[in-house]
Amino acid sequence: MALIRTKGLVIKEVYVDDADKIITLMTEDIGKISVSARGARKNGRQAYGTQILTYGQYILYKGRNSYSLNGCDILTSFFDLANDLERFTYAAHMMELASDACTDDQTTGRVLNLLLHGLNALNKGREPMLISSAFSMKLAQVCGYPPHVTSCANCHTKELETIYFSFKKCGFICEVCAKNDGDALPVTIGTAKAILHVLCSDQAGVFSFNLSSENLERFSDISNRYIAERFDKRYEKLNYLKEIRQVSYHLGGE
Ligand SMILES: [Zn+2]
Repeated sequence: MALIRTKGLVIKEVYVDDADKIITLMTEDIGKISVSARGARKNGRQAYGTQILTYGQYILYKGRNSYSLNGCDILTSFFDLANDLERFTYAAHMMELASDACTDDQTTGRVLNLLLHGLNALNKGREPMLISSAFSMKLAQVCGYPPHVTSCANCHTKELETIYFSFKKCGFICEVCAKNDGDALPVTIGTAKAILHVLCSDQAGVFSFNLSSENLERFSDISNRYIAERFDKRYEKLNYLKEIRQVSYHLGGE
């Protein structure tokens, strides 16, 4: 069996029995892999190193069809996010999106890089809805689905006084074209600037902006729906947070 070394983030851990677990690693160079970690629940160093939201250096045995863990060193742990239900739910949502984006080794490396910057921003206490929405929009671009933002995606005019976001046309459209696109959402200048900022930035810069709560709500609606349609999947984790907020609102109102 060959011994290999790779850096990666644990995006899933499943307990197999009292001692063992199987983890899913998103790696910088060998794609998204499943790793059997025998005895990891009993071995202190490996127990921490194989925890979800841990980024580390992993030494693996490569078998014919699978990988098994030989050793690990933690580089950064984002496990503290698990102490906050809201932040952890956003982190879990971002990991689900990232996992779905892992089509090949090269894309996985780029998605991992984006995810690490996003988790770092969440960990620093930044607004989770903004971080997760920026992550979704940038992820669409990394995966080859950048929205069209340089002119009207339908008639190609560059005179966009009032901007709408069209899910059918995958980008900005003008007011005239929006009249025939019942699904398009009006976009304020603040939201349009946020979309442009995310598409034009890299690394940690993707997450370095602020938005008013009204603009953030619209930015989030657009990003979430845009990525869900590109990946053709319903993402349910954030709905749970909405339900909780509604419950506390009702309780508070009584
Ligand atoms: Zn137009």
